[in-house]
Amino acid sequence: MDLIKIGKFIANLRKDKKITQSELAEKLNITDRAVSKWERGLSLPDADKMLDLCNILDINVNELLNGEKINMKDYEKKNEELLLELAKQEELKNKKMITDMYVLAITTVIFYIGIILLAAYTLKEGTLFGIIVAISTAILVIVALYAFKLEINAGYYECRKCHHRYVPNSYWKIMFSPHLNITRYLKCPKCGKRSWSKKVMSKGDNE
Ligand SMILES: [Zn+2]
Repeated sequence: MDLIKIGKFIANLRKDKKITQSELAEKLNITDRAVSKWERGLSLPDADKMLDLCNILDINVNELLNGEKINMKDYEKKNEELLLELAKQEELKNKKMITDMYVLAITTVIFYIGIILLAAYTLKEGTLFGIIVAISTAILVIVALYAFKLEINAGYYECRKCHHRYVPNSYWKIMFSPHLNITRYLKCPKCGKRSWSKKVMSKGDNE
């Protein structure tokens, strides 16, 4: 997505309608600064403001995100490009979540082991050692749950049998499913068979 182009498009349409940045901001219940940032290509309107903005400017969301008016002939092509672009961004976001999950999990485990070893070597008193182990373990569990949430929210699982890609509907089912790294033994909602379902970053063409 070309933010500069989108920004110029918003600015031109706004001027055509003879409304100022602050009038537009007021209609959308946001700050002048936000409008100015869109128009300079520094940010995109939030999803919940997009429809209202489009109504005011007499365009549709597709045109807004393309930064130009689209005639019917080009419409399908533009739409396809936009969907591809969104899919690509989703894939990048999912990959980043998985990377974050690994970094977080590995760092925490290293710190956990480090703190326990350090405490075991330096502390003579049993109670204090117990408290440190308890607190560190509690933190480890919280981080593990958070890492698990990142893993589940990133991408889809692909059924080995029918190649259907899906997001499992229950955290609990996933949490207690056997797993090898991030490949999990899950029941496919489409064919009903259990298989070692691998993680994929996009919905793909299998739907
Ligand atoms: Zn299946």
